[in-house]
Amino acid sequence: MTETATGKAPFDLTELAMFVTTDIAGITRGRSFAASEIDDYMRKGVGWVPANLALTPFDEIAEANPWGSAGDLRLMAGPESRVRVTCLPDATPLHFYHADITDLGGNPWDCCVRSFLKRTLEEFEREAGLKVVAAVEQEFQLLGVDWPEAPSFSLRAQRRADPFGPLLMTALEEAGAEPEMFLPEYGKDQFEITCRAADALIAADRGATIRIIAREVAALFGWHASFAPKTSPEGVGNGVHLHVSFTDLDGNPATFDPSRPGRLSAVAGAFAAGVIRHLPAIAAFTAPSVLSYSRLVPHHWSAAYTCLGEKNREATLRICPTLDIAGSNPARQFNMEYRAADACASPHLSLAVVLKAGLEGIRAGLDQPPLVNSDPSELSAEEQQRLGICRLPESLGEALDTLAEDEVVTGWFAKEFLDCYVAMKRKEIGIVEDLSADELCSRYAAVY
Ligand code: GLU
Ligand code: MG
Repeated sequence: MTETATGKAPFDLTELAMFVTTDIAGITRGRSFAASEIDDYMRKGVGWVPANLALTPFDEIAEANPWGSAGDLRLMAGPESRVRVTCLPDATPLHFYHADITDLGGNPWDCCVRSFLKRTLEEFEREAGLKVVAAVEQEFQLLGVDWPEAPSFSLRAQRRADPFGPLLMTALEEAGAEPEMFLPEYGKDQFEITCRAADALIAADRGATIRIIAREVAALFGWHASFAPKTSPEGVGNGVHLHVSFTDLDGNPATFDPSRPGRLSAVAGAFAAGVIRHLPAIAAFTAPSVLSYSRLVPHHWSAAYTCLGEKNREATLRICPTLDIAGSNPARQFNMEYRAADACASPHLSLAVVLKAGLEGIRAGLDQPPLVNSDPSELSAEEQQRLGICRLPESLGEALDTLAEDEVVTGWFAKEFLDCYVAMKRKEIGIVEDLSADELCSRYAAVY
């Protein structure tokens, strides 16, 4: 064990724990204290400032935010959202709690995205009698590496990074993130982490946890694990894919019905219709950066059009395959995957808006959209129109305009929240507007 600058080994230092919020820029921020004081901080929380919500990814604040220097909030967390990782060599334990933002009385703040997700999950239970099960699948690239090229998906690509993979898996297991797979992906130095499906709030927390831990582990090797939607203009995108399914309140699967098109139950079909209808507007939250729109283009296996597809990686909402070998239960595995998200987004907000959009479809009893099992960009304009397919916004500015036009979606939010979100995003556009394509990638890769 190496000694630190104080002459003490890491395990002799005061352990810190942090209450964190992963904000609308997808950045995890918070305040820390001596971990031994945790019981006290769980009772009273730590201080927080409303205007922090107006921070762009580049730490410049949108001046037009609703709060300015006024107001005080708390970050409040309980033991259930604890993450503590002790296996990182020569580091003090990584110890934090996903927190809600509250007022000074401990009531959820209108602009807290984690509380917004919690409310959405309550609406699902109350109105649809459904519990939401979710999982996040995240891609990233290792930057700053110095190794020979290796083929996509290859064992060699993975072994070059050793022992990064095993250490990452160990840390994620210790964090309770239930990692499933660590795999070399298609892109240059690209990897993917998948984790088990869980209650949707836990899944969203894991979205943030996995990024934090992957970056921390990569840094031990002198690399940066970048989850930016792209790290080079011609390269492959890094997606965040949100897998969603439902159970009834007793835990029985409610997404699967083999007698219906795509095997989607009636309620899941109406959910899909709501997501497809509101997709052009919710893209402003799930693909929230200027760079996000370089990934959402045809032939990137990401998502460029509003369409529901079965096993179709160009579909924004994809019905995933199930394993049909003996002993496997397709109803339990069955899920839909939302592909138009990336790591510039808050995982809580992106999951919440997808669920809210789907709930609108359930409320309105919408018909399931047609299944599109080919590349939507290769269909004629007439065919696209017949199938109800439309192009997603092609820039963040267009996404914000599209959001403003969808009154159902804007109606989900407190006015202050929406004003802050749009002001922050417009500021972000201004900060990067003069950058070349390469500079844009580097600017975002440095943050994400
Ligand atoms: N890299 C693709 C994306 O940007 C996803 C590839 C895959 O299907 O795993 O979303
Ligand atoms: Mg992938």
